[in-house]
Amino acid sequence: MSSPHASSPLPVAVYEDVSSPRGLLLLNLLALVYLAGSLLLDLDLEELDAVAGLLVGGSALILALGPRRIEAGPAGLQVWRWGRPVLRRPIEDVARLEAGLLGLQFIRLRDGKRLWFAGIGPEATRLVDYLHSLRPAPADAGRAGRPDELELPVTAVRFPRGRCVACGRSSNASLTLEARRGFSLVLVSHFLTRALTAPGCGRCRWRRRIAGLGAGGVLVLLGLWSLFGLRVVPVGQVDPLQVACAALGLAGLFALHNRGDAWLDHRVYGVSARALSADSARVRLRVRSAALRDALRREARAPHPVGAQGGEGTGLDAG
Ligand SMILES: [Zn+2]
Repeated sequence: MSSPHASSPLPVAVYEDVSSPRGLLLLNLLALVYLAGSLLLDLDLEELDAVAGLLVGGSALILALGPRRIEAGPAGLQVWRWGRPVLRRPIEDVARLEAGLLGLQFIRLRDGKRLWFAGIGPEATRLVDYLHSLRPAPADAGRAGRPDELELPVTAVRFPRGRCVACGRSSNASLTLEARRGFSLVLVSHFLTRALTAPGCGRCRWRRRIAGLGAGGVLVLLGLWSLFGLRVVPVGQVDPLQVACAALGLAGLFALHNRGDAWLDHRVYGVSARALSADSARVRLRVRSAALRDALRREARAPHPVGAQGGEGTGLDAG
């Protein structure tokens, strides 16, 4: 295990382009077998062909350039290819993180050089959190636009232990709050996500589940009403009430996909993750209780080791 102590020469974060060479090899073999079969049998499945082609092409590119291992820690930033160091810089040379599309991240160095990495998964999240922690904490840490909102580094979010954040009873379960960045058009969606856990109780978790089912149920009823209604309308005629229900149902579905979880979390728990920064290192929380807000602010000011927020890391939620 690496150590976050400043005196340690061990890297705090290690990221590899290919974390499982065997897995990548297996995937490529499958893709090649598929492509060969597709050509021989003339399957003509364009989407699958494209995915397999991208996988083989991308892997070939990574192999041609050499898969990288990026290490970051007090000893500096180092990049290795095929086990050979190709870049070594003091950690102070890291100017900032820049977020690209689809979870892609860039480390910008002081001389302008950029290093890319896929900012998804536990390894990349640890790298993001560590590089983010190098910047001195701003004086307004914890302040956000609204009085009941806080913006904090994800690694600094620590809820007081032992009590359910929602009802204050002694905690016997954990609640998951998902911080997301992205959008959903109902059928197509793209989200960068990061899970936060808070102490909770079984009762509050159950209430949240019922609220989620209830919200979905109301929309299904609206949809059914708009399709069939109670009155039979002759073909070609439009019932304004049914049209209104359909519009309301669609708007509700859109809202539920995009903001529903945060809204329900806030209604039931009094705490929700409203937004995630583009580099997935900072989260904006909405907290109803002033006492809990103060506790979160206090905890955030205390030193926090990188990687304290569990091992799930940043995920990509696409559909
Ligand atoms: Zn509770």
